[in-house]
Amino acid sequence: MIPSSNVRVDGLVVRYGTTVALGASTFALRPGTITALIGANGSGKTTLLHALAGVVEPAGGSIEGNVGVASALVSQQHHHHRWMPLTVAEVVRMGRYRRLGLLGRFGPDDRAAVTDAAERAEVSGLMTAPFGELSGGQQQRVRIAQALAGEPAVLLLDEPITGLDPPSQRRILDTMRAERRHGTTVVFSTHHLDEAAIADKVLVLGGRVLAAGPPDETLRPDVLSLAFGGRMIVLGDRVVLDDHGHQHDHGAECAPGVDVEAP
Ligand code: ADP
Repeated sequence: MIPSSNVRVDGLVVRYGTTVALGASTFALRPGTITALIGANGSGKTTLLHALAGVVEPAGGSIEGNVGVASALVSQQHHHHRWMPLTVAEVVRMGRYRRLGLLGRFGPDDRAAVTDAAERAEVSGLMTAPFGELSGGQQQRVRIAQALAGEPAVLLLDEPITGLDPPSQRRILDTMRAERRHGTTVVFSTHHLDEAAIADKVLVLGGRVLAAGPPDETLRPDVLSLAFGGRMIVLGDRVVLDDHGHQHDHGAECAPGVDVEAP
């Protein structure tokens, strides 16, 4: 693994043409922590992950630390690859290609990294299976194994558990926690409060990072209303988000124990 370091993001701006996809955003990421990005559809979560992964060029500001080449991005799941005639082992091995380069040969270190990544993402028993025939949850674990095979210091996950069945969700959240213990910097996006509550730090997005801090300071009606406005309903001691327009849309309730007060 490439040793992790603190990541400092200062005044980061991302534009697509004339659209400001992410306005000036400042925050830090510490190694061995999980950070959740929460915000409504179109709030800039994917854009921020792409900027951290180095796949989009910032229009302004700076990103300092071990990102870009030391990061691995697991994009949102698309199920139109069922035709893909690849085994799970081949998909995981692809996670080494960036390190190998064009002429690199697959050596013992690469094989060891693939075996280790498969164990960490719990796909060791699936290696000979055709990737396209796996369930959504299994495919997502394989995609995480592919990312881990590159031994990233920073693991970036775009809505990693959205749309999966609860047991698959739990396995992936457990893998994220195990990676945190491993010293990896884990960043994931979600529009569900209960998922965000498992993080050490939450970035609340609404066109830019509006607030950053631990879940008990950020998953509160006064802060969330900045990002969700009228799409947030406070029911007694619970906050429910009504994020219409999202393809996997369903309400999310605040995890028990989060400090929520009626406005
Ligand atoms: P989220 O992941 O929170 O749903 P995105 O990062 O995908 O949000 O989008 C943030 C903003 O940037 C939105 O206004 C979206 O329409 C815009 N955007 C995203 N990708 C592109 C693109 N390739 N071209 C133009 N605008 C884009």
